[in-house]
Amino acid sequence: MTAPANPEKVRRKPLVLGNWKMNGDVAASEQLLSGLLRGDRELPDALAGVEAGVCPPYPYIGLAAARLAGSRFGWGAQNVAHFEDGAYTGEVSATMLRDLACTWVLVGHSERRALFDETDAQLSAKVEFAHRAGLIPVVCVGESRSEREALMTEQVLAAQIDGLCAALTSTNEQFVIAYEPVWAIGTGLTASPEQAQQVHAFIRSRLAAGRVPGAAGVRILYGGSVKPSNAQALFGQPDVDGGLVGGASLVAEDFLSICRAAALRSIR
Ligand code: PEP
Repeated sequence: MTAPANPEKVRRKPLVLGNWKMNGDVAASEQLLSGLLRGDRELPDALAGVEAGVCPPYPYIGLAAARLAGSRFGWGAQNVAHFEDGAYTGEVSATMLRDLACTWVLVGHSERRALFDETDAQLSAKVEFAHRAGLIPVVCVGESRSEREALMTEQVLAAQIDGLCAALTSTNEQFVIAYEPVWAIGTGLTASPEQAQQVHAFIRSRLAAGRVPGAAGVRILYGGSVKPSNAQALFGQPDVDGGLVGGASLVAEDFLSICRAAALRSIR
């Protein structure tokens, strides 16, 4: 993959992923999945041009696979082991996720970095195992509120991206970046469209500086309190290629409406 001469002309298919986190049960998951399928049946054209999927908790991935197979929606996981296989009690490997026909796997969500002390070495291993298994890693990066206030946003993101560049460039496999300012996750605070664009453009330039092949074609999602009311403005920015959605992905109508906002991006 070589970078195109004119990055402005690169078309990136909008992508919206729902991160259900550790929420729900079988009944709630069934209800949410049927809501998504119903929404697609009722307004199929409104979702044409967008790629979308959900990342349920591990025990419900099989259910999502069974219900969503053959639909417009894909599915993925919220995490993956940084080991290949073997005596790692409680872990789930990339090949197991591939067995469940997952397309995506989130890597380095800020909750995992903060609560489970995930390191760059572990995240790099996750990216590598995901690629080997044929999964698309969705690498999450973002700064905390205090880092933003100290004007360290670019420095923090540069370190997070540089820490993973070797893993991201070791193969020609696809990956997605999700910019999720930690101060905006689950708080109701959202980066303004201009703030998001500024950071997304920075991320893209940093990928290119790290010699990531085809940096202009990498999809960069925004995450952090994306809602039906702010999705269109965020996705209207040139480098915001869709969203990673937490809370609003637990309500089928809201998630569908965010997917429809992203679909508008593909017809601009
Ligand atoms: C997330 O956790 O990935 C997320 C973006 O959450 P929320 O949309 O609830 O802020």
